[in-house]
Amino acid sequence: MKSRYSIFSLMRNALSYHEKWPEAWRSPEPKSSYDVVIVGGGGHGLATAYYLAKIHGIRNVAVIERGWLGGGNTGRNTTIVRSNYLWDESAGLYEHAMKLWEGLSQELNYNVMFSQRGVMNLAHNQQDLRDIARRVNANRLNGIDSEFLTPHQIKDLVPIIDLRGNGRYPVLGASNQRRGGTARHDAVAWGYARRADEHGVHIIQECPVTGFEIENGRVTGVQTAKGLIKAKKVGVVVAGHASVVAEMAGLRLPVVSHPLQALVSEPVKPVIDTVVMSNAIHAYISQSDKGELVIGAGVDKYVGYGQRGSLPVTEETLAAICELFPSLKRMRMMRQWGGIVDTCPDASPIISKTPVEGFFINCGWGTGGFKATPGSGWVFADTIANDRPHPLNEAFSLERFNSGYLVDEHGAAAVAH
Ligand SMILES: Cc1cc2nc3c(=O)[nH]c(=O)nc-3n(C[C@H](O)[C@H](O)[C@H](O)COP(=O)(O)OP(=O)(O)OC[C@H]3O[C@@H](n4cnc5c(N)ncnc54)[C@H](O)[C@@H]3O)c2cc1C
Repeated sequence: MKSRYSIFSLMRNALSYHEKWPEAWRSPEPKSSYDVVIVGGGGHGLATAYYLAKIHGIRNVAVIERGWLGGGNTGRNTTIVRSNYLWDESAGLYEHAMKLWEGLSQELNYNVMFSQRGVMNLAHNQQDLRDIARRVNANRLNGIDSEFLTPHQIKDLVPIIDLRGNGRYPVLGASNQRRGGTARHDAVAWGYARRADEHGVHIIQECPVTGFEIENGRVTGVQTAKGLIKAKKVGVVVAGHASVVAEMAGLRLPVVSHPLQALVSEPVKPVIDTVVMSNAIHAYISQSDKGELVIGAGVDKYVGYGQRGSLPVTEETLAAICELFPSLKRMRMMRQWGGIVDTCPDASPIISKTPVEGFFINCGWGTGGFKATPGSGWVFADTIANDRPHPLNEAFSLERFNSGYLVDEHGAAAVAH
């Protein structure tokens, strides 16, 4: 058992100038075999490993990451957390995640800085208003907090907004989820890694998976840069690289990978204490604890694996932000980056068994999987442990692309963060 992080451990370590903190997780050489190998050391993979060990008692588990923990989309996203999706299936999954978020710092003994500052979605025309009203009603029927805001209520919450949108993007109303907000992305990966390690999970970084051993339709091992690792079960959670890795097992996924970019401004004093999103103009904004404005866009339309985006998307997003928030026009942008998001035709994830026995896949979260991290790991662990989907992820199986029972969340997920 690791020593707990607390005010006392902080004071104790201050006496030694913080030079004696123990390592947060070990870096073991891989064993020759594991009960379960998780491919991908992002938040979802690490959460899966943690819940496999904690809830299902499966501790002989390795997480194999080709780079560093959280170096994929987990460490690149804009950290918006909400659960106000349209359909019952999505509401169940994302609200389960929301409830886990609400106790996550305590559960992990790691401050994930979950801040329930509210998430607002703006309506700029009559159709937006109708869509928002429908979603607010659907959310309420599912027991999820959701409210409709008038322009005056929006102005009260966000004084710097121009309700005329410079004539181009008039603000007619908004949906609002007060329990939504943001969290610290790296801390989520590190917190899960630390706790998983504590339960005996091996975390192996800088070790790309290059193929799979499959005998008689059943997975038996994982080929890696550090050699063959035998495994009774394999869970693949590699986000933007899902189709590439699945292809190594002979599977073709209904997933397309796009770059998605975000940017932050120079730090300023607090000017906005909620999250404002606009699906219609594909732009959203919040302010980090450091004071930087965190701004995001829609996907770059081309398919690609370079972790960067193109300038036209940045320009379009910033133009829209400036029209809605004219006082930000002279802000300087400090950093811009991109990640690769894996999108499904119905903008919903895949958390599923596959035609290869013992081989499970978790992907398709597209532009909005960070918010689901705890819930995704929780249901994926349950699915892997019990060889069948949990009721919360039953609707998100690969089978839906044959049956046609899609969970079309484009309306609630257009910009999907
Ligand atoms: C710019 C941007 C903004 C976003 N904003 C939001 C937001 O505000 N809210 C929200 O909910 N979501 C957001 N998202 C989406 C969110 O980041 C992802 O859905 C989520 O983080 C996916 O987590 P993950 O653990 O599945 O993937 P990742 O964190 O990408 O982890 C997958 C890991 O697999 C590893 N890997 C890949 N191939 C291999 C291999 N062959 N062998 C071993 N390891 C491999 C990668 O290195 C990576 O570390 C955003 C994404 C981006 C890019």
